[in-house]
Amino acid sequence: MPHRVAAVGRGRLPVERYVEGIRGGDRAILARAITLVESDLAADGDRAARLLDAILPHTGRSRRVGITGVPGVGKSTFIDALGMHLIRERGEAVAVLSVDPSSPISGGSILGDKTRMERLSVEERAFIRPSPSRGHVGGVARRTRETILLCEAAGYANILVETVGVGQSETAVRSMTDFFLLLGLAGAGDELQGIKRGILEMIDGMAINKADGENRARAERARFEYAGALHLFPASPDGWTPRVVACSALNGEGIGAIWETILEHRSKLEASGWIARRRSAQAVEWMGELVSLGLEDALRRSPSVATRLPNLRESVERGQATPFAASREVLRLFRDGE
Ligand code: GDP
Repeated sequence: MPHRVAAVGRGRLPVERYVEGIRGGDRAILARAITLVESDLAADGDRAARLLDAILPHTGRSRRVGITGVPGVGKSTFIDALGMHLIRERGEAVAVLSVDPSSPISGGSILGDKTRMERLSVEERAFIRPSPSRGHVGGVARRTRETILLCEAAGYANILVETVGVGQSETAVRSMTDFFLLLGLAGAGDELQGIKRGILEMIDGMAINKADGENRARAERARFEYAGALHLFPASPDGWTPRVVACSALNGEGIGAIWETILEHRSKLEASGWIARRRSAQAVEWMGELVSLGLEDALRRSPSVATRLPNLRESVERGQATPFAASREVLRLFRDGE
């Protein structure tokens, strides 16, 4: 069950004030606007929808980059290094968001709340926002998508969305970004380093991190092997073959090369129209997800379902009703509003 989060604290503002503040680069207002779209209160939903409508003309212009990799691979160190590269070398602002649904096993978060990006977190031109309240991946992803739009309206040219790959979070992050990057390590097989089946088919690029010190040669070998493996997959319809680059998030080597790859991908796919196609496909998918989320929400709020649900659960638990029959009964109650 997702937490209920309300946009409380310093109260809500009229929609125009949010828009003005966001467009004017007011980070405090941007943060409050994100809290508003993250809110589960029905009263906030309307305002959030109006806000998103109002900023829509100012969205869509950033580079949206998804980053995944198992805990310990160096994601926060990497994002810190990449973010600093963007700010210092390219003079561009960067927003860092995350999709961190509850772990199905521990129920807790994996990315954690501690400030993980030491240099970026004190940069004027970086905006870091941890994952919205943890819960099911669908709800978490929905809010991150909306936060991307708010950050774009605030003028962030680059949006990095990080995930650890719990549940379906990789698929969710891929479906909200233009380039999906996997961080891996040298010297461990896919399974050992937790690279899930199917992930390689989803990525646009891979970075073999920790290619420093004694690890350099191994990283180079791993780079070669992964590049070979990626070549074996059927060609992607967008015509892009995923690249593999070795890097050290710790000393910054290779970080610039990874960004160059992302830019090359961008310009090629922009020229061929594939970025636009990817985004329209994502928009249609997103609409479907919003409909499902809305239905789930309506189901939860339905009084007739709420009244009967405990009994039905008990019957299923005792083996007196099959899950199939009980679920049909729930749907019937919902449909008929009895
Ligand atoms: P995360 O859990 O994926 O966010 O990983 P962290 O960024 O917290 O990094 C995990 C550990 O790996 C930390 O001790 C980092 O200092 C270390 N680390 C990260 N990147 C590198 C790197 O490029 N080279 C080396 N040698 N260590 C690194």
